[in-house]
Amino acid sequence: MTGIAVVGAGISGLSTAWALAKHGVDVTLYEQGPIPNPLSASGDEHRIIRRAYGGQTGYARRIDEAYDAWNELFDDLGENHLIENGFLIVSREPGDEAEQYRKGLLAGGYPLDVLSPAAAADRFGFLEPGTFRYAGFSPEGGALLCQKIGAGIGDWLRAKGVTVRDNTKVTAIDGTAGTVTTEGGETKRYDRVIVTAGAWVLALVPHLAERLTTYRTAVAYFTPPPDLAPAWENAPVLLDMGGDSDGYGIPPIGGSGLKLGTGNHKRKSGPDEDRDPGSDEADAIRRWFSPPLARLDEYTHEKTVTCAYTFTSDERFALHREERLWVVSACSGHGYKFGAAIGRRVARHVTANDENALVAWLEARD
Ligand SMILES: Cc1cc2nc3c(=O)[nH]c(=O)nc-3n(C[C@H](O)[C@H](O)[C@H](O)COP(=O)(O)OP(=O)(O)OC[C@H]3O[C@@H](n4cnc5c(N)ncnc54)[C@H](O)[C@@H]3O)c2cc1C
Repeated sequence: MTGIAVVGAGISGLSTAWALAKHGVDVTLYEQGPIPNPLSASGDEHRIIRRAYGGQTGYARRIDEAYDAWNELFDDLGENHLIENGFLIVSREPGDEAEQYRKGLLAGGYPLDVLSPAAAADRFGFLEPGTFRYAGFSPEGGALLCQKIGAGIGDWLRAKGVTVRDNTKVTAIDGTAGTVTTEGGETKRYDRVIVTAGAWVLALVPHLAERLTTYRTAVAYFTPPPDLAPAWENAPVLLDMGGDSDGYGIPPIGGSGLKLGTGNHKRKSGPDEDRDPGSDEADAIRRWFSPPLARLDEYTHEKTVTCAYTFTSDERFALHREERLWVVSACSGHGYKFGAAIGRRVARHVTANDENALVAWLEARD
């Protein structure tokens, strides 16, 4: 037994190394940058966890497992990095994404308080009354504090004797031989090589460009004007702000500002290209939220952060297998919430050599 290599220490790789170590496997984790790496999709301050999944009900059904895995991980770390402040949806047009979420939640029997515009603006003073049809609040959701999670798992792995090779870029992988070659020219052989390289995966497995497309996006952080600050205290995460905004946000928590992002603000790009944010990006993002957020032009811009991630054509997670090589791509903009569960699943199915079970779980078609 020569152990298992995991290439890439975003949430997928860190959790996989965590779960493999708990199975007693000899693990080596490679990461090209620091852990957590601020350039990775998992390296921003926080990500949303929520049960709402519109039509992709297989993922909604996996949320219980996601929570269970986070609980196990946080028990091991001795610290809980989930803020359970619930989530808010705002519908501005019939059939918009917020409405799809509402239908999915109600069909699944999950909790959602549907609020009239007046009631919603009264409860959430940052909303502009008269600019939306209704809002919905669910207590089942919140924000995962990614940087604390990344640092915590990194420390846990080192304490358990896992070989953690941060600042070590992998330049080549041979799936037949099970070898990993690093930038320094060193080549090591493993029983299995698991690649969780996020948006950088195509540099290692170029033919996956048939299935995966890499995008670059940005999120912007703002500070509300002082008189609106109380309205944001204990606010839920903003899951969808309705209309064609594809807009989501995280309220000011854990010492950082209000974070706003939109799926509209993304373009095809390599993971290392164009990583310095442009001076006009924060305003471009801000415009998607005004309405329904009130007085957004009075918010102070703090910083803009760029991110790189991959999508599949149907936004399902993907597995690619070649002999000793297992490539896991769990993103399409919604993978973080499953991070700990992905690690447990990958560890279980790779050690059992059960490719079909892992594909079925990742694609969530059931
Ligand atoms: C703007 C944005 C918002 C999102 N919002 C949400 C959300 O609210 N909720 C949610 O659930 N998900 C969300 N996601 C998706 C989520 O962030 C991703 O699904 C998840 O972080 C992917 O983790 P990963 O470990 O697969 O990839 P990554 O986090 O990108 O990690 C890959 C790691 O591999 C390393 N690496 C790559 N190549 C090499 C190499 N050759 N050698 C060594 N190391 C290498 C990289 O440096 C990196 O650290 C969002 C994504 C983005 C970009």
